[in-house]
Amino acid sequence: MEINKSNFLCSNSDWKKCPKPNLPEYAFIGRSNVGKSSLINALTNSKKLAKTSGKPGKTQLINHFLINNNFYLADLPGYGYAKISKKIREEFQSFTLKYLENRENLVCLFMLIDLRVPPQKIDLEFMEYCAVKKIPFVICFTKADKLKKVEIEENTNNYKNLLLKEWEFFPVNFTTSSTKKTGLEDIKGFINEHNILFKS
Ligand code: GDP
Repeated sequence: MEINKSNFLCSNSDWKKCPKPNLPEYAFIGRSNVGKSSLINALTNSKKLAKTSGKPGKTQLINHFLINNNFYLADLPGYGYAKISKKIREEFQSFTLKYLENRENLVCLFMLIDLRVPPQKIDLEFMEYCAVKKIPFVICFTKADKLKKVEIEENTNNYKNLLLKEWEFFPVNFTTSSTKKTGLEDIKGFINEHNILFKS
């Protein structure tokens, strides 16, 4: 699937004000600095559709983009950045969770995980939450260009073994690098397949 049109639609903190749920939607979430904005930009062939910055914790609203006039991407606030006050963190987490639990056209959540970092409690807890709430998600490992092939395998297996201790299966996962533009076609293929299912 080619992405040839992407438009920013709106930013808000209330799921009820999100665009009309008439198109399939894919949301992106992860710890601050995981590479979420870079991945959205790489997928949409854009330099600044989503804002990238070295400063973690910048995107704190739900940002909606219309892609190819055919589906929505939602860029969700990054979680787990220590310098945000507890109150703000609780606030944006609560609206993000409300969005996840109520957004009827949400086809899949892409949970971004930096492959260089060992499994983090906050990511594992978030996956558990999605499983309990039956929010469909896939894992998207980021910044693969910073690792050697064996390290990618090793770190992916660490996650796999950890999750399989409690879960029956390891979620669908993608290994990506926005810098080297790898893994992007797999994600677009996944979205394309689900777009077709959404409309049938
Ligand atoms: P966000 O906070 O999750 O939106 O993260 P950003 O997309 O702003 O990226 C955070 C930092 O990681 C920036 O310095 C990016 O240049 C860097 N980064 C993001 N994706 C990649 C990647 O695929 N490879 C490498 N090497 N660096 C990346």
